[in-house]
Amino acid sequence: MADTADVVIIGGGAAGCAVAYYLAQSGVKSTIIERAGLGNQASGNAAGGLNPLTGVGIPGPLASFAWECYKLHGDLHEGLVQDTGIDYQHHTVAKIDVALEESSIAGMKEDALRIDAVDGFNARWLEPDEVAKLEPRIAPGILGGYYHQGDTSADSHKLTESFAAAAANKAGSTVREGNVRGLEGSGDKIDRVILEDGEISCGQVVMALGPWSRRAEAWLGLYIPVDPLKGEILRLKLDGPPIEYDISGGGASIYPKLTGLNWCGTTEDWKGFDLSLSDEVDKLIRKRLERVFPELATAELELHTACLRPVTPDWLPVLGHAPGWDNVYLATGAGKKGILLAPGIGQSVADLMTTGKTALSIQDYSPERFATLLD
Ligand SMILES: Cc1cc2nc3c(=O)[nH]c(=O)nc-3n(C[C@H](O)[C@H](O)[C@H](O)COP(=O)(O)OP(=O)(O)OC[C@H]3O[C@@H](n4cnc5c(N)ncnc54)[C@H](O)[C@@H]3O)c2cc1C
Repeated sequence: MADTADVVIIGGGAAGCAVAYYLAQSGVKSTIIERAGLGNQASGNAAGGLNPLTGVGIPGPLASFAWECYKLHGDLHEGLVQDTGIDYQHHTVAKIDVALEESSIAGMKEDALRIDAVDGFNARWLEPDEVAKLEPRIAPGILGGYYHQGDTSADSHKLTESFAAAAANKAGSTVREGNVRGLEGSGDKIDRVILEDGEISCGQVVMALGPWSRRAEAWLGLYIPVDPLKGEILRLKLDGPPIEYDISGGGASIYPKLTGLNWCGTTEDWKGFDLSLSDEVDKLIRKRLERVFPELATAELELHTACLRPVTPDWLPVLGHAPGWDNVYLATGAGKKGILLAPGIGQSVADLMTTGKTALSIQDYSPERFATLLD
């Protein structure tokens, strides 16, 4: 006899696990199907920055939703840790963006003013000597930088796990290891999810396949343009006192973690589903670090990771009802911001599934915008 589930969520990354979490808050039990272990792809290897005020589409079409997600993270944190016992290290960070070219200074000063005006944040331009006072190991040749404080950060792997654990605690939701090979149904309803080793009858299906979302195009006859953008990170050990700031500039980003390791990256390469670790990228990241924080350029490597961001043509997520299907929802396309956006993805998709509407600002992210039904 086939297994059954009210809701099947395909994909156990931050998006899928957050949907399970918010469904559970409404009393809905789900089954997450994951083939590579919960959060073992991008959701477990992301830098974990929860930055609502900068990035592609901010200011712009991602700004309101990013802000709502940032607030949701703040609201969630205490209860989620209490409920699951998983400390995913949600904390406020201070950051220094350093200027290496004269041409970038005016834009940085504008960003500092914009961010400083936001409640709960503060930001200001720093001359080179002021940067050196904050962190003397920053390269002496920099032209200044802007300091800002108010973003938060989290261990993205533990956050993903805690969404799933809380869904299990609250509603008895489960995780099933398995590789989904297709969907079957009749009319406008999917009623079976087909795995390599069995099948599950279901009431509703959530597609949270991240960069592998196009796999579902053939299953659903829908255009789901989500493509993988590879990113590599070096986790480096540094002797001496811990770095107290996230630091970026000249293509280098440095995220000092509470574990003591400094996550440095990050690269962006369109290389399909290639997850290989390359020596060239190791060299490239170190070359960029040389211009910003020289001691890290030669620091000992603890771990090198590569993973794939799920990116759409307009860099906006794809959230909501799958066009032409009565019981299928899409929760994907979060691009470079999927850890920040996870709670909003989870809340909005769960809202749509349980009540048909949501108060979150996802109007521009409807799957309808790409809804060319394939022949
Ligand atoms: C280097 C790097 C740094 C990043 N830093 C940040 C950051 O600082 N802040 C931020 O907000 N975001 C960051 N991101 C982006 C973030 O990691 C992603 O947006 C997010 O993890 C996407 O989550 P997801 O659940 O959609 O996809 P994924 O994490 O890829 O999860 C999808 C899951 O679906 C599973 N799956 C796919 N197909 C099937 C199938 N057929 N059957 C079963 N399972 C399947 C996969 O195994 C996978 O686990 C970063 C990404 C990278 C690469």
